Amino acid sequence: MALTNAYPLAKKTLEKPQTLVEVNGIKIGGNDLAIIAGPCAVESEEQLYAIANFLANKGIKIMRGGAYKPRTSPYSFQGLMEDGLKLLRGVSQKYDMAIITEVLDLSLLDTIYPYTDIIQIGARNMKNYHFLKELGKTDKPVMLKRGMDATLEEWLLAAEYILMGGNQQVILCERGIRTFDNTSRNTMDIAAIPLIKQLSHLPIIADPSQATGNREIVGPLSLAAVAAGADGLMIEVHNNPEKALSDGPQSLRFEQFSDLLDKLNLLGNMNGKKIPELHLKTQFN
Ligand code: PEP
Ligand code: MN
Repeated sequence: MALTNAYPLAKKTLEKPQTLVEVNGIKIGGNDLAIIAGPCAVESEEQLYAIANFLANKGIKIMRGGAYKPRTSPYSFQGLMEDGLKLLRGVSQKYDMAIITEVLDLSLLDTIYPYTDIIQIGARNMKNYHFLKELGKTDKPVMLKRGMDATLEEWLLAAEYILMGGNQQVILCERGIRTFDNTSRNTMDIAAIPLIKQLSHLPIIADPSQATGNREIVGPLSLAAVAAGADGLMIEVHNNPEKALSDGPQSLRFEQFSDLLDKLNLLGNMNGKKIPELHLKTQFN
Protein backbone atom coordinates (compact mmCIF):
# COMPACT_ATOMS: atom_id res chain seq x y z
CA MET A 1 0.00 0.00 0.00
CA ALA A 2 1.33 3.43 -0.95
CA LEU A 3 2.20 5.77 1.87
CA THR A 4 -0.34 8.53 2.00
CA ASN A 5 -0.69 11.97 3.43
CA ALA A 6 -4.41 11.96 2.77
CA TYR A 7 -5.23 11.69 6.47
CA PRO A 8 -2.48 13.52 8.39
CA LEU A 9 -4.38 13.44 11.70
CA ALA A 10 -5.25 9.73 11.65
CA LYS A 11 -1.88 8.68 10.30
CA LYS A 12 0.62 6.82 12.45
CA THR A 13 3.84 8.78 12.87
CA LEU A 14 6.97 8.55 14.96
CA GLU A 15 5.60 11.32 17.17
CA LYS A 16 2.20 9.70 17.43
CA PRO A 17 2.48 5.91 17.25
CA GLN A 18 -0.62 5.03 19.27
CA THR A 19 -3.65 6.76 20.75
CA LEU A 20 -5.07 5.60 24.06
CA VAL A 21 -8.73 6.05 24.80
CA GLU A 22 -9.54 5.45 28.44
CA VAL A 23 -13.06 4.41 29.38
CA ASN A 24 -14.04 3.29 32.89
CA GLY A 25 -10.45 2.39 33.72
CA ILE A 26 -9.91 0.41 30.50
CA LYS A 27 -7.13 1.69 28.27
CA ILE A 28 -8.28 1.03 24.72
CA GLY A 29 -5.22 1.02 22.49
CA GLY A 30 -2.92 0.21 25.41
CA ASN A 31 -2.10 -3.09 27.05
CA ASP A 32 -5.70 -3.85 27.97
CA LEU A 33 -7.87 -6.05 25.81
CA ALA A 34 -11.12 -4.10 25.92
CA ILE A 35 -14.20 -6.29 25.99
CA ILE A 36 -17.47 -4.54 25.22
CA ALA A 37 -20.51 -6.79 25.52
CA GLY A 38 -24.27 -6.63 25.71
CA PRO A 39 -27.40 -7.07 23.67
CA CYS A 40 -27.87 -5.75 20.17
CA ALA A 41 -30.86 -3.79 21.41
CA VAL A 42 -32.25 -2.77 24.77
CA GLU A 43 -35.57 -4.63 24.87
CA SER A 44 -36.91 -4.48 28.40
CA GLU A 45 -35.89 -3.85 32.00
CA GLU A 46 -35.87 -7.57 32.71
CA GLN A 47 -33.67 -8.36 29.69
CA LEU A 48 -31.17 -5.56 30.26
CA TYR A 49 -30.71 -6.21 33.98
CA ALA A 50 -30.31 -9.97 33.46
CA ILE A 51 -27.55 -9.36 30.92
CA ALA A 52 -25.91 -6.55 32.90
CA ASN A 53 -25.86 -8.64 36.07
CA PHE A 54 -24.16 -11.49 34.23
CA LEU A 55 -21.61 -9.24 32.51
CA ALA A 56 -20.75 -7.33 35.68
CA ASN A 57 -20.13 -10.64 37.46
CA LYS A 58 -17.72 -11.54 34.68
CA GLY A 59 -15.83 -8.27 35.22
CA ILE A 60 -16.98 -6.54 32.05
CA LYS A 61 -16.58 -2.77 32.33
CA ILE A 62 -18.21 -1.52 29.13
CA MET A 63 -21.72 -2.54 28.11
CA ARG A 64 -23.35 -2.11 24.72
CA GLY A 65 -27.04 -1.84 23.92
CA GLY A 66 -28.88 -0.05 21.15
CA ALA A 67 -31.76 2.21 22.14
CA TYR A 68 -32.23 3.46 18.57
CA LYS A 69 -31.68 0.71 16.01
CA PRO A 70 -30.81 1.15 12.33
CA ARG A 71 -32.91 -1.74 10.98
CA THR A 72 -32.92 -2.73 7.33
CA SER A 73 -36.69 -3.13 7.44
CA PRO A 74 -38.90 -0.36 8.81
CA TYR A 75 -41.19 -3.12 10.11
CA SER A 76 -38.45 -4.53 12.41
CA PHE A 77 -38.09 -3.45 16.05
CA GLN A 78 -36.71 0.08 16.02
CA GLY A 79 -35.57 0.27 19.65
CA LEU A 80 -37.07 1.55 22.91
CA MET A 81 -35.62 4.99 22.25
CA GLU A 82 -35.64 7.30 25.31
CA ASP A 83 -37.00 4.52 27.54
CA GLY A 84 -34.03 2.42 26.44
CA LEU A 85 -31.60 5.21 27.30
CA LYS A 86 -33.05 5.42 30.80
CA LEU A 87 -32.65 1.66 31.28
CA LEU A 88 -29.02 1.93 30.15
CA ARG A 89 -28.40 4.65 32.73
CA GLY A 90 -29.90 2.42 35.41
CA VAL A 91 -27.61 -0.54 34.72
CA SER A 92 -24.62 1.73 34.31
CA GLN A 93 -25.18 3.15 37.81
CA LYS A 94 -26.04 -0.15 39.45
CA TYR A 95 -23.18 -2.17 37.99
CA ASP A 96 -20.56 0.53 37.39
CA MET A 97 -20.33 -0.20 33.69
CA ALA A 98 -19.67 2.40 31.02
CA ILE A 99 -22.22 2.50 28.21
CA ILE A 100 -21.83 2.51 24.46
CA THR A 101 -24.92 3.13 22.37
CA GLU A 102 -25.51 4.13 18.78
CA VAL A 103 -26.40 7.64 17.67
CA LEU A 104 -28.33 7.25 14.42
CA ASP A 105 -28.15 10.82 13.28
CA LEU A 106 -27.30 14.33 14.33
CA SER A 107 -30.85 15.10 15.49
CA LEU A 108 -30.42 12.48 18.26
CA LEU A 109 -26.99 13.53 19.50
CA ASP A 110 -28.18 15.93 22.22
CA THR A 111 -30.75 13.42 23.48
CA ILE A 112 -28.33 10.49 23.68
CA TYR A 113 -25.20 12.38 24.77
CA PRO A 114 -25.89 12.41 28.55
CA TYR A 115 -26.65 8.67 28.60
CA THR A 116 -23.60 7.31 26.85
CA ASP A 117 -19.88 7.13 27.58
CA ILE A 118 -18.90 6.16 24.03
CA ILE A 119 -20.82 7.37 20.98
CA GLN A 120 -21.30 4.49 18.53
CA ILE A 121 -21.43 5.46 14.86
CA GLY A 122 -22.81 2.65 12.77
CA ALA A 123 -21.55 1.24 9.51
CA ARG A 124 -24.43 2.92 7.68
CA ASN A 125 -23.26 6.34 8.87
CA MET A 126 -19.54 6.08 8.15
CA LYS A 127 -19.99 8.24 5.07
CA ASN A 128 -22.33 10.78 6.65
CA TYR A 129 -19.67 13.45 6.50
CA HIS A 130 -21.65 16.35 7.91
CA PHE A 131 -22.53 14.20 10.93
CA LEU A 132 -18.88 13.17 11.35
CA LYS A 133 -17.82 16.83 11.38
CA GLU A 134 -20.28 17.56 14.17
CA LEU A 135 -18.96 14.57 16.16
CA GLY A 136 -15.59 16.24 16.05
CA LYS A 137 -17.00 18.87 18.38
CA THR A 138 -18.07 16.46 21.12
CA ASP A 139 -15.89 15.58 24.09
CA LYS A 140 -16.80 11.89 24.35
CA PRO A 141 -15.04 8.99 22.62
CA VAL A 142 -16.53 8.01 19.27
CA MET A 143 -16.47 4.43 18.00
CA LEU A 144 -16.50 4.60 14.23
CA LYS A 145 -17.58 1.41 12.51
CA ARG A 146 -16.26 0.60 9.09
CA GLY A 147 -18.82 1.09 6.34
CA MET A 148 -19.77 -2.21 4.75
CA ASP A 149 -18.33 -1.10 1.42
CA ALA A 150 -15.55 1.15 2.69
CA THR A 151 -11.87 0.83 1.84
CA LEU A 152 -9.39 1.37 4.65
CA GLU A 153 -8.53 4.75 3.17
CA GLU A 154 -12.18 5.82 3.11
CA TRP A 155 -12.53 4.65 6.71
CA LEU A 156 -9.47 6.58 7.88
CA LEU A 157 -10.70 9.66 5.99
CA ALA A 158 -14.00 9.34 7.84
CA ALA A 159 -12.02 9.25 11.11
CA GLU A 160 -10.13 12.31 9.88
CA TYR A 161 -13.40 14.27 9.74
CA ILE A 162 -13.91 13.63 13.46
CA LEU A 163 -10.29 14.34 14.40
CA MET A 164 -10.37 17.59 12.41
CA GLY A 165 -13.11 18.93 14.64
CA GLY A 166 -10.84 18.53 17.67
CA ASN A 167 -12.08 15.23 19.11
CA GLN A 168 -9.02 12.99 19.41
CA GLN A 169 -10.84 10.08 21.01
CA VAL A 170 -11.72 7.92 18.03
CA ILE A 171 -11.87 4.13 18.16
CA LEU A 172 -12.19 2.19 14.90
CA CYS A 173 -14.33 -0.94 14.71
CA GLU A 174 -14.06 -3.58 11.98
CA ARG A 175 -17.51 -5.14 11.65
CA GLY A 176 -17.28 -7.08 8.40
CA ILE A 177 -17.68 -5.97 4.82
CA ARG A 178 -19.92 -7.06 1.94
CA THR A 179 -18.31 -9.53 -0.44
CA PHE A 180 -19.58 -11.99 -3.06
CA ASP A 181 -20.02 -14.68 -0.42
CA ASN A 182 -23.24 -14.56 1.55
CA THR A 183 -22.70 -17.70 3.62
CA SER A 184 -22.19 -15.44 6.58
CA ARG A 185 -23.85 -12.06 7.08
CA ASN A 186 -20.66 -10.18 6.18
CA THR A 187 -17.01 -11.07 5.65
CA MET A 188 -14.74 -10.17 8.54
CA ASP A 189 -11.65 -8.46 7.17
CA ILE A 190 -9.07 -9.73 9.64
CA ALA A 191 -6.24 -8.23 7.57
CA ALA A 192 -7.71 -4.80 8.19
CA ILE A 193 -6.58 -5.07 11.82
CA PRO A 194 -2.79 -5.29 11.28
CA LEU A 195 -3.09 -2.96 8.27
CA ILE A 196 -4.79 -0.26 10.34
CA LYS A 197 -2.11 -0.78 13.00
CA GLN A 198 0.50 0.06 10.34
CA LEU A 199 -1.37 3.03 8.93
CA SER A 200 -2.91 4.72 11.96
CA HIS A 201 -2.37 5.45 15.63
CA LEU A 202 -6.07 4.96 16.36
CA PRO A 203 -7.15 1.97 18.43
CA ILE A 204 -9.04 -0.72 16.52
CA ILE A 205 -11.50 -3.23 17.87
CA ALA A 206 -13.48 -5.96 16.11
CA ASP A 207 -17.19 -6.75 16.13
CA PRO A 208 -17.49 -10.40 15.12
CA SER A 209 -21.23 -10.40 15.83
CA GLN A 210 -22.27 -8.09 12.97
CA ALA A 211 -19.47 -9.61 10.88
CA THR A 212 -20.86 -13.14 10.93
CA GLY A 213 -24.50 -13.08 11.96
CA ASN A 214 -23.88 -16.53 13.44
CA ARG A 215 -23.11 -17.13 17.11
CA GLU A 216 -21.13 -20.30 16.38
CA ILE A 217 -18.57 -18.26 14.41
CA VAL A 218 -18.29 -15.37 16.84
CA GLY A 219 -15.84 -17.19 19.15
CA PRO A 220 -13.32 -18.26 16.49
CA LEU A 221 -13.37 -14.81 14.89
CA SER A 222 -12.91 -13.11 18.24
CA LEU A 223 -9.77 -15.16 18.79
CA ALA A 224 -8.56 -14.43 15.26
CA ALA A 225 -9.08 -10.68 15.72
CA VAL A 226 -7.16 -10.64 18.99
CA ALA A 227 -4.36 -12.76 17.51
CA ALA A 228 -4.19 -10.23 14.65
CA GLY A 229 -3.65 -7.40 17.12
CA ALA A 230 -7.11 -5.98 17.87
CA ASP A 231 -7.29 -3.70 20.91
CA GLY A 232 -10.64 -5.11 21.88
CA LEU A 233 -13.89 -6.76 20.88
CA MET A 234 -17.52 -5.79 20.81
CA ILE A 235 -19.69 -8.86 21.26
CA GLU A 236 -23.45 -9.29 21.34
CA VAL A 237 -24.65 -11.34 24.31
CA HIS A 238 -28.27 -12.17 25.18
CA ASN A 239 -30.02 -13.95 28.06
CA ASN A 240 -32.52 -15.55 25.65
CA PRO A 241 -31.31 -15.24 22.04
CA GLU A 242 -34.31 -17.15 20.65
CA LYS A 243 -36.59 -14.39 21.90
CA ALA A 244 -34.32 -11.47 20.97
CA LEU A 245 -35.99 -8.61 19.09
CA SER A 246 -32.80 -7.90 17.15
CA ASP A 247 -29.84 -10.03 16.02
CA GLY A 248 -30.71 -13.11 18.10
CA PRO A 249 -28.89 -15.61 15.81
CA GLN A 250 -25.57 -13.83 16.32
CA SER A 251 -25.93 -13.24 20.05
CA LEU A 252 -23.84 -15.43 22.33
CA ARG A 253 -25.48 -17.34 25.15
CA PHE A 254 -24.04 -16.64 28.62
CA GLU A 255 -22.21 -19.97 28.66
CA GLN A 256 -20.60 -19.35 25.27
CA PHE A 257 -19.47 -15.90 26.35
CA SER A 258 -17.92 -17.28 29.54
CA ASP A 259 -16.04 -19.94 27.56
CA LEU A 260 -14.82 -17.33 25.12
CA LEU A 261 -13.49 -15.12 27.93
CA ASP A 262 -11.44 -18.05 29.21
CA LYS A 263 -9.95 -18.60 25.77
CA LEU A 264 -9.26 -14.91 25.28
CA ASN A 265 -7.46 -14.89 28.59
CA LEU A 266 -5.25 -17.76 27.43
CA LEU A 267 -4.61 -16.03 24.14
CA GLY A 268 -3.72 -12.88 26.04
CA ASN A 269 -1.14 -14.98 27.87
CA MET A 270 0.24 -15.91 24.47
CA ASN A 271 -1.74 -17.98 22.06
CA GLY A 272 -3.04 -21.02 23.98
CA LYS A 273 -1.91 -23.52 21.35
CA LYS A 274 1.31 -25.35 21.92
CA ILE A 275 3.35 -26.98 19.16
CA PRO A 276 4.69 -30.32 20.50
CA GLU A 277 8.42 -30.67 21.08
CA LEU A 278 9.18 -27.15 19.98
CA HIS A 279 12.31 -25.62 21.43
CA LEU A 280 11.15 -22.20 22.42
CA LYS A 281 13.33 -19.15 22.60
CA THR A 282 11.30 -17.89 25.50
CA GLN A 283 9.85 -20.24 28.09
CA PHE A 284 6.33 -19.48 29.24
CA ASN A 285 4.88 -21.05 32.33
C1 PEP B 1 -24.89 -2.99 15.93
O1 PEP B 1 -23.80 -2.86 16.52
O2 PEP B 1 -25.88 -3.56 16.43
C2 PEP B 1 -25.00 -2.45 14.55
C3 PEP B 1 -26.16 -2.12 14.02
O3 PEP B 1 -23.82 -2.37 13.93
P1 PEP B 1 -23.37 -1.96 12.44
O4 PEP B 1 -23.50 -0.48 12.36
O5 PEP B 1 -21.96 -2.44 12.37
O6 PEP B 1 -24.28 -2.69 11.48
MN1 MN C 1 -26.66 -5.90 16.19
